Amino acid sequence: MTAANEARTILERLGAGGPIWSSDGLEVRSPIDGSTAGRLAETADLEPVVARAVEAFHAWRRVPAPRRGELVRLFGDELRAAKDDLARLVTLEAGKIVSEGLGEVQEMIDVCDFAVGLSRQLYGLTLPSERPGHHMRETWQPLGPVLVISAFNFPVAVWAWNACLALVCGDPVIWKPSEKTPLTALATQAVFQRALARFGDAPEGLSQVVVGGRDAGEALAADPRIPLVSATGSTRMGRAVAQTVAGRLGRSLLELGGNNAMIVAPSADLEMAVRAVAFSAVGTCGQRCTSLRRLLVHESVADALVARLKAAYESLPIGDPREDGVLVGPLIDAAAAEAFEASLARAAEQGGEVVTGGGRLDRDGIYIRPAIVRMPAQTEVVMHETFAPILYVLTWSDFDQAVQMQNAVPQGLSSCVFTDSVREAEQFLSAWGSDCGIANVNIGPSGAEIGGAFGGEKDTGGGRESGSDAWKAYMRRQTQTVNFSRDLPLAQGVRFEV
Ligand code: NAD
Repeated sequence: MTAANEARTILERLGAGGPIWSSDGLEVRSPIDGSTAGRLAETADLEPVVARAVEAFHAWRRVPAPRRGELVRLFGDELRAAKDDLARLVTLEAGKIVSEGLGEVQEMIDVCDFAVGLSRQLYGLTLPSERPGHHMRETWQPLGPVLVISAFNFPVAVWAWNACLALVCGDPVIWKPSEKTPLTALATQAVFQRALARFGDAPEGLSQVVVGGRDAGEALAADPRIPLVSATGSTRMGRAVAQTVAGRLGRSLLELGGNNAMIVAPSADLEMAVRAVAFSAVGTCGQRCTSLRRLLVHESVADALVARLKAAYESLPIGDPREDGVLVGPLIDAAAAEAFEASLARAAEQGGEVVTGGGRLDRDGIYIRPAIVRMPAQTEVVMHETFAPILYVLTWSDFDQAVQMQNAVPQGLSSCVFTDSVREAEQFLSAWGSDCGIANVNIGPSGAEIGGAFGGEKDTGGGRESGSDAWKAYMRRQTQTVNFSRDLPLAQGVRFEV
């Protein structure tokens, strides 16, 4: 059976088959072998989708938050039961290796648990009023329908980060998944429907999937009935969405491209650094927003580290991500391979020297050899995110210079330092250290835990999702003042007698 047909079979097993197929819709492909499973009918009319979400909001916001959490708890149960099938779909549709597919669904389950706890902790504040017999408080209210636009490389986890929080916050969710991974979205929706059936009295339209491409995303982002647009994808997409949403004074939460670096100091444990580089630079075939793209190594250890990395890269098992032991699966499509080759050519023009990798494997699907390229400086090609496994290696002689190099790119997602020096580690984490949303010590830039707020600065878009107080983006803050006295004093002592 082809990979795409296996995906179709799993989808049907999860209860999402049937009339979703059409002769002229979105083509469903698997990057594993380039096979196609047919075409999915695109959502023809977006108007009723938004109308249903608004109606669901009016009912859902009246449901107590801990009861809303109960729905997410049931969803977590259903995800546990469907974990293997859903993870397999992630592998078949996005090309992730088995353990990464399972990890992605585990992340959804973890976010469910987090959100259930949160449903009893949507804390506000009480504030002392300057007026006698008055009481002030700050309360967080449900916001309204949330649009989630997601990228192909985390086809389900990113939606879960958003949806689980939005649902406990009282907001329905409209999901516009990547046109490259619609099956995982439909499968997730089918799993969610099981939770809804057990929950009993949730409004219709609490969670909806829109099958479509960029046009559907653009149209939904422009709709003033959607107060929050959470968009994950390229910086190009984020700029377009930000302008549309700002134009109607809506709120956007943007999770965009990264250009993540690792600084390796002379005292670093090179064995750990090699393992961290391998996972974060070639995992998911370099198609993570947090993939390691720049290795900034002290000149005294650069040759030793590069030699070890070269050996590690040359023994990488590349191939069908369903097979045991494979660590590098396919790129998502031919366009990604062209971008990979074009960036390697530009790097060579800009003085780069390929240490290892580059080129395609001769087999069905798009399989390439992850590359390491030594660069003389952070030239134009280094400044861009190429969504493929290219690791640029640069050297430094002074730690201040290393931090400056780390911060010198337009993106600001994830960063890390490998060092045994407390001074270097603390400087990296200080106000004049890394300018990224994520900064790690002796850990690679990739594979964040859900408990922290996830996101980045500058061209990465500034959004924060998942843990910490990211939930506040999905709610409306209200300052409330109650007068329980028999007088009507004005603030700031203003007198206005009539
Ligand atoms: P992409 O920008 O091509 O597409 C992402 C989504 O946006 C898709 O659903 C697409 O249909 C939609 N879209 C595209 N243009 C749009 C527009 N003008 N208006 C509305 N919607 C639009 O990205 P991709 O190739 O699927 O994913 C790779 C990119 O995503 C990389 O840049 C990666 O770094 C980034 N990413 C970031 C994070 C993060 O959390 N920061 C996570 C995953 C991926």
